[in-house]
Amino acid sequence: AKHAGRDTFRFFTAQMNVEMLTRLDLEKALRQAVENNEFVLHYQPKVRLDSGRVTGMEALLRWQRPGHGLVFPGDFIPILEETGLIVRVGSWVIAAACKQIGLWAHSSIGPIQVSVNVSGRQFIEGDLDGDVIKALDDNDITADLLELELTESSMMANTDRTIASLKNLKNRGVQISVDDFGTGYSSLAYLRRFPIDKLKIDIAFIREVTSNPDDAAIVQAIIDMAHSLKLEVIAEGVETAAQLEYLRRHRCDQIQGYYFSRPLPVLELEQMLREERRL
Ligand code: C2E
Ligand code: CA
Ligand code: CA
Ligand code: CA
Repeated sequence: AKHAGRDTFRFFTAQMNVEMLTRLDLEKALRQAVENNEFVLHYQPKVRLDSGRVTGMEALLRWQRPGHGLVFPGDFIPILEETGLIVRVGSWVIAAACKQIGLWAHSSIGPIQVSVNVSGRQFIEGDLDGDVIKALDDNDITADLLELELTESSMMANTDRTIASLKNLKNRGVQISVDDFGTGYSSLAYLRRFPIDKLKIDIAFIREVTSNPDDAAIVQAIIDMAHSLKLEVIAEGVETAAQLEYLRRHRCDQIQGYYFSRPLPVLELEQMLREERRL
């Protein structure tokens, strides 16, 4: 038994070594990715349920890692967050999204609202207001074309500074939405303290909204509460016609999800928009 225990231990440390090396490699590769501009944004359309029209896009980060193809956020955002690199990458995301907003607004495609995901660390360690104001200015676009998506937990970190930044941006016309709504532990009281325009119902409640009565009740409650507070409400992760019908029946304002479109690279997205308009 003792012998087996030692082997197990040895195996475990070897395994840990591999994991640590992988993690260090990844961290090093991410630092290079920032230097070498290996990031790209894909865009996923949001659709209004009353008109059936595309009303905006969410910018989602991808990493074109040399020799590895396209890497998705689940595999690198946590490391960017832990190392603090998310502050620099987050500034790049704002600049890149605003550049795209400008390209669309000044082309035959026309103005499209784009939302970007913002980390709590950007408020505390970065200059989020400065980044946003510069990006709007550089690209000659109006503030209402930009929306920031924040999770409840990122709003709760360092609330005074975050509230001040958000109020400043909101006063200029930037839209603010709460991402993954319903999954945080924070009190609903923050909905009154923060200058919020929109709630984004987390995918976890949408998945079984047509089969699980508890999820259905939560979704309905979120929609009703949002509307009582004069907030827009959008459901993420909509994959089926049945989910869409449920949300329409319960007066959800917008949806986003694979049912309508996956996040797409710019060229494919533009193709889709042109086809949509031809219909
Ligand atoms: P999120 O902000 O909640 O974004 C929604 C995620 O759900 C995206 O995953 C999107 O591709 C995926 N999704 C959209 N529709 C569907 C659907 O119908 N079904 C399913 N199963 N999934 C759907 P993605 O692109 O892998 O991003 C994951 C997370 O990474 C995001 O979750 C966000 O928290 C984070 N993230 C992405 N881009 C950025 C960024 O630029 N900055 C920061 N700080 N975080 C980002
Ligand atoms: Ca989001
Ligand atoms: Ca989410
Ligand atoms: Ca999320």
